Amino acid sequence: MTHTLGDLHLQDQFVLVRVDFNVPLVTNGGKVSVGDDTRIRAAIPTIRYILSKGGHPILMSHLGRPKGGATPELSLAPVAAHLHTVLDRPVGLTTPPYSPDAVRELFDDYDVVLLENTRFDDREKANDPSLAAEFAALGSVYINDAFGTAHRAHASTEGVAHKVKHKAAGLLMGREISVLDKVLGNPARPFVAIVGGAKVSDKIGIVESLLPRVDKLLIGGAMAYTFLKALGHETGSSLVEDDRLDTARVILDQFDDKVVLPVDHVAATGFSADANFEVATDIPADRMGLDIGPETVALYSGMIESAATVVWNGPMGVFEMPPFAKGTVAIAHAVARATDSGAFSVIGGGDSVAAITSAGLEDEVSHVSTGGGAMLEYLEGIELPGIAALRA
Ligand code: AMP
Repeated sequence: MTHTLGDLHLQDQFVLVRVDFNVPLVTNGGKVSVGDDTRIRAAIPTIRYILSKGGHPILMSHLGRPKGGATPELSLAPVAAHLHTVLDRPVGLTTPPYSPDAVRELFDDYDVVLLENTRFDDREKANDPSLAAEFAALGSVYINDAFGTAHRAHASTEGVAHKVKHKAAGLLMGREISVLDKVLGNPARPFVAIVGGAKVSDKIGIVESLLPRVDKLLIGGAMAYTFLKALGHETGSSLVEDDRLDTARVILDQFDDKVVLPVDHVAATGFSADANFEVATDIPADRMGLDIGPETVALYSGMIESAATVVWNGPMGVFEMPPFAKGTVAIAHAVARATDSGAFSVIGGGDSVAAITSAGLEDEVSHVSTGGGAMLEYLEGIELPGIAALRA
């Protein structure tokens, strides 16, 4: 069983906490600052809890994808400054090599210590035991609150957990697990899942694992075209994975009563925000489907609004281009209306979360997951290494 924070003795302990501070940075007049601090705010309850119990939090996170060592543009310095403001407690940033004594001494001046971007060290992604041991030497307790990276076995998310005896999931991680367990365990019915995005190949695992459990699976985005082509529909120049047509056929044969596909499309002359487009039920040969059409929006919205459980991952179209965002935004509103009528709704994946947030609906759904890939893998029933290591 995974321990929870409440099981741990934290008074006067140095507490290693893996957080997900992989936030967008913005540069304005040469000054770098945090663009969207949702992930920083999501970690605050765990940090405050540790402080309230007299513990000394030592935070670890990666930021971006540094290639080959320290990259000044990906320093966590702006994050430390931002955390200081949000937490209203002094936050110190420190750089490797880390000596346990030196890190501990920092607590003379700071309430919270943040280690520099873990991916500046190549041993992080390699899950090198020597780096895990260096992290472990800094604290006596390990807490993983980074659900978004729990599907990666890295030194700060997995390796270190094996080297610290007292460990637990943080409050954010605990909430993610309990929400997804609720969906996996005994979801209220009807249970409607919406899966979109670019590729069938990326989502095949989640589609196959959800289908036996849901009442309806609504498919959108480019991945719908592989399914439609498998049924013999004209898909024009839409993005189709020809090597997945057989897989799509098998799924459709087995679950034809559950899989729901778009009935109309926004068919454009090219992959561009200023392409000409029209609504079409069959996509002409010289056009590509870039969004679900209005009839599909009505069909999907009706099913979503009559659901008692809704899970959504992946956009319905190329929502980054305003003319092709309508379907995704309409689905966001339908999920919000379903929630208002009592449904339990879970949204995950960077694009769907961005759509919900830009529509201002993030507080109108039951749970916005901080994990995209991690949420999909958890729902597929794959044991996430970052969570499994907390039990070991
Ligand atoms: P994913 O990362 O698999 O969830 O896919 C997200 C991406 O799929 C977004 O960048 C969308 O622009 C893209 N996408 C969604 N629908 C389509 C479509 N009909 N044609 C091409 N790309 C699409």
